[in-house]
Amino acid sequence: MHNTALVWFRNDLRVTDNPALNTAAESGPVVAVFLISDEQWAQHHVATRRLAFLKGCLLDLENQLETLNIPLVIGHAASFAQAPAALLEIASSWHAASIDCNAEYPLNEQRRDRQVANACATAGLRFNRHHGGVIVPPGSVSTAAGAPYTVFSPFKRRWLSQLTPDDWSPEPPPKRQANIGDAPGPQLNNERLLALLPDHNDDNWPAGSKEAERRLEIFLSRKAAGYQQQRDIPSQAGTSGLSPYLSIGAISARTCLAAARELNDQRLNVKPGARPGLDTWISELVWREFYRHVTAAFPHISTGAAFRRETDQLEWRKDPAAFERWCQGMTGYPLVDAGMRQLNETGWMHNRLRMVTAMFLSKHLLLDWRLGERYFMENLIDGDFAANNGGWQWSASTGTDSVPYFRIFNPTSQAKKFDAHSEFIRRWVPEIDGLTAESATTYPAPMVDHALARQRALAFFKRS
Ligand SMILES: Cc1cc2nc3c(=O)[nH]c(=O)nc-3n(C[C@H](O)[C@H](O)[C@H](O)COP(=O)(O)OP(=O)(O)OC[C@H]3O[C@@H](n4cnc5c(N)ncnc54)[C@H](O)[C@@H]3O)c2cc1C
Repeated sequence: MHNTALVWFRNDLRVTDNPALNTAAESGPVVAVFLISDEQWAQHHVATRRLAFLKGCLLDLENQLETLNIPLVIGHAASFAQAPAALLEIASSWHAASIDCNAEYPLNEQRRDRQVANACATAGLRFNRHHGGVIVPPGSVSTAAGAPYTVFSPFKRRWLSQLTPDDWSPEPPPKRQANIGDAPGPQLNNERLLALLPDHNDDNWPAGSKEAERRLEIFLSRKAAGYQQQRDIPSQAGTSGLSPYLSIGAISARTCLAAARELNDQRLNVKPGARPGLDTWISELVWREFYRHVTAAFPHISTGAAFRRETDQLEWRKDPAAFERWCQGMTGYPLVDAGMRQLNETGWMHNRLRMVTAMFLSKHLLLDWRLGERYFMENLIDGDFAANNGGWQWSASTGTDSVPYFRIFNPTSQAKKFDAHSEFIRRWVPEIDGLTAESATTYPAPMVDHALARQRALAFFKRS
């Protein structure tokens, strides 16, 4: 067997609209590879729930590939530094001439890929990175001066203006290939290596591409029209619930964009008032792109530094007990606590509450946003470096196009506005009756007074 093409799967666990897979399939019989990087993922604080979801999606990918007659080889590179050797060993045993993959943009992932590219060059293998994780590749949307955008609205305008029909035409899976024969050399270790990942038994988030497609269909047919109003109401399932699937690549953003455009009379944006729900949803997909482009263009944000470096001078308070109360959902602010408990219980939190809880940590408690960023990663099933870092730095006013430091959400007003009948609060903080906490003996008084905390935050940001 000669000139096998390896396709190296990472956060692109699907066979539909996967440019790396399709390119590999054009050049020869394909063998799919996935590397388990358990130690590296622990360093990146990847949540146990996400690892379980990954396992579920990997098993689903194995089935999808089987229908195409493509074997999936699971390898082990505990840290990214071990990836080049692990891949070359697999490539050599399958007589591979090339490796294709879809790019990932955080710094460690980029470094790993550079090392793999160098190792491939030395071994005489072709190594190609594609951009299946985004609709438009990072670096291709720039200002008139050729710089990356750091503000969302002009980015979105330029992004939309650059789209071509390819960007809303997802690629079908490759054709079923001829039988490639048994694994040469050592037998597949898939089962043993998959045991390194926790099992996935979460009925809230069935794993795999079919479920992602089902959610997309349900969202577009039943919820998209009302998305603009419903998306901010945490008691309603008014959003798509696609974030775990998009972040692990069980479905592509291009597939989502194409389906939304189709429903939107083949348009990407709409006349004001026509289909505002879809327009707003497409904007969310663009936010996803924006943060990925920012991650690729500004590698310092992957090192723990703030996007706006001057904000690294801020002297955040150190108060482990206060942080713990925030983590446990015991701040005494019902909406904040409901959000944190939703996260702790389900591994997912509604977007409005991600903003409310992140702002509470960074502005009311003046605790370092990086603590919250890490806690979210440790618990989110959809934990995604670019979106999480972007969301946290937006809330803490340290990032690209972030909320101005003086705009501080009042968690009680937010509750009145977005959970008017306390439905969400009652679900997650059952010991109190809506916003009325006085009678509850097990629920704490607010840990800070909003008005005082606001004044303290304004002084803190002004001083620095
Ligand atoms: C502090 C903070 C942390 C966040 N961390 C993550 C994270 O780790 N992973 C993650 O996927 N999203 C994150 N988000 C963005 C957003 O909260 C979630 O994507 C959204 O709640 C997912 O729900 P959904 O799939 O129903 O979204 P929908 O409203 O249906 O939106 C569709 C898709 O658009 C993308 N999207 C929506 N909003 C945003 C946004 N603000 N930024 C980037 N992409 C967006 C997601 O891929 C989402 O699945 C974070 C936001 C904040 C404020």
